[in-house]
Order: sequence, then C-alpha cells, then structure tokens
Amino acid sequence: MPRGKNTNVYLICKDCKMQNYKTRINKKTITGKLEQNKFCAKCNKATLHASGSEIKHSSS
Ligand SMILES: [Zn+2]
Repeated sequence: MPRGKNTNVYLICKDCKMQNYKTRINKKTITGKLEQNKFCAKCNKATLHASGSEIKHSSS
C-alpha cells in the first residue's frame, strides 16, 4: 500500500489537449497545477503538459 494520499492525474498537452501521460501527485505537497515538459506524439515535439483531471479508480 502506498503511503499518504497520492492522486493519479493525467498530464495534458497544453497545445493539443491530449492526455498523454499519467502521473501521481501528492495533494499535500503539490498545490496548484503541476507542469512538465514532455514529448507529445500528436504535436511531434516536447510541449508543456499540465496536470489535469483526477483518474478515478473503480473499486472492484
Ligand atoms: Zn500535443
């Protein structure tokens, strides 16, 4: 079990709005938007990706 409350979020390309990556953030330590420079396959270049909507886990 992971410690703390980590939340899975999408990293969304700011140019084309594609949800290219998933990452885990700790909402206690990260406030506001997370931004990372990542390669986008659609743009075919490295673009700024911002943390987007939370990925909900369906409990099963
Ligand atoms: Zn893109």
